[in-house]
Amino acid sequence: MQNPFENALNQIKRAVEVKEFPKSFIERLMHPDRQVRISIPLVMDDGTEKIFEGYRVEHNNKRGPYKGGIRFHQDADMNEVNALALWMTLKCAVANIPMGGGKGGITVDPKTLSQNELENLSRGWVRGMLPLLGPYKDVPAPDVNTNGQIMSWMVDEYEKLTDEKSGATFTGKPVSNRGSEGREEATSMGGLYVFNALRESLNLEGSLSVVIQGLGNVGGNAALLFEADGHKIIALSDSKGAIMNEEGLSVKDVIEFKKQTGSVVGFPGSKEISQSELLTLACDILIPSALENQITAENAKDIKARLVLELANGPTTPEADDILFAKGIYVVPDILANSGGVTVSTFEWEQNLKGEKWTKEEVFEKLKEKMEKEANNVLDNSRKYETDLRRGAFILAMERLS
Ligand code: NAD
Repeated sequence: MQNPFENALNQIKRAVEVKEFPKSFIERLMHPDRQVRISIPLVMDDGTEKIFEGYRVEHNNKRGPYKGGIRFHQDADMNEVNALALWMTLKCAVANIPMGGGKGGITVDPKTLSQNELENLSRGWVRGMLPLLGPYKDVPAPDVNTNGQIMSWMVDEYEKLTDEKSGATFTGKPVSNRGSEGREEATSMGGLYVFNALRESLNLEGSLSVVIQGLGNVGGNAALLFEADGHKIIALSDSKGAIMNEEGLSVKDVIEFKKQTGSVVGFPGSKEISQSELLTLACDILIPSALENQITAENAKDIKARLVLELANGPTTPEADDILFAKGIYVVPDILANSGGVTVSTFEWEQNLKGEKWTKEEVFEKLKEKMEKEANNVLDNSRKYETDLRRGAFILAMERLS
């Protein structure tokens, strides 16, 4: 497994080859402001005690409070959190929102915990990270295996321990607990807006075939939204396996089937394929929505999609970027494609601080305007510097940060 932080640093170096930036600025960008590691003791339901490792990386707050999700995953470690925090700094700059970059995590497979254990672990992370957190300091959100319920526990723990009661210290909360309308779908909706803003320039008109890796919050909503926008979803996957049907899958039915059985595998009328096969299927759009390092030097030459829309963070390695570019496959980079999530998180933060409640229509209208504008800025940069969209996006972010 490649080190995602090395990949992220490489991406910066590759952007600097195209446009020069002051050395001191680049050095600064390559070093996170703060890396915190905590031990979280947890009393398990059977009375035994286990210690879990928790992380928060505050990468850069030049443009606003540190902002970024918390990941619960058995492979989460400081390298991964460092990479994700660096991408958040760049992403917030691409989206042009007043936030800096941060990320958090716990090394744990949450599927092995009871609800009670999960709640206490979430509260433990907040207690350990308390000195860092606050609406103008560091504002976490959900990421892989964390959700609105976990944000509710976290904000509750935070409010028990402080006088700050605006709710603005955590975003991605349920709408019933000071969350924003539209936050749940925001990452995927932002991805669709970005895609629609670029498709004409990239010669991707008409109804297209779509393959999606990962059927969680981001992948599931992307599947529903792309289907509703007139495209055909021909393959889907989760951590247990992958399925396809060239005639198109009914996304709502697959999601229901997964809810009942725990996986997409076995969905009636679909053919089971391997997770690696899914990535190399012939299709128009490939949407990685799971984890890092999925498209690598090994499989990039076999990718047949016309466009890769990175809703996951870090799914494509720098080596794979070069192979895809040479093949004429467009890659819409994560720091643009999935920036709708942090953008609506920022709307949530703003609503909490002002005591406002925006309608879903208002949220999506503001999101659309932003995504279209920044997608075009990234495209313009890639053309100006005769490079790929990733370097176009990195340059845009670095111009704003420097
Ligand atoms: P999630 O936990 O809701 O879903 C993750 C999905 O990936 C699950 O369906 C899981 O089964 C699947 N998965 C895991 N390993 C897999 C594998 N090897 N092959 C296929 N599927 C696999 O998480 P999420 O919030 O949807 O996040 C997904 C990605 O999107 C992550 O990279 C995350 O950082 C990124 N992202 C999320 C948000 C957000 O708002 N949640 C915002 C920006 C970026």
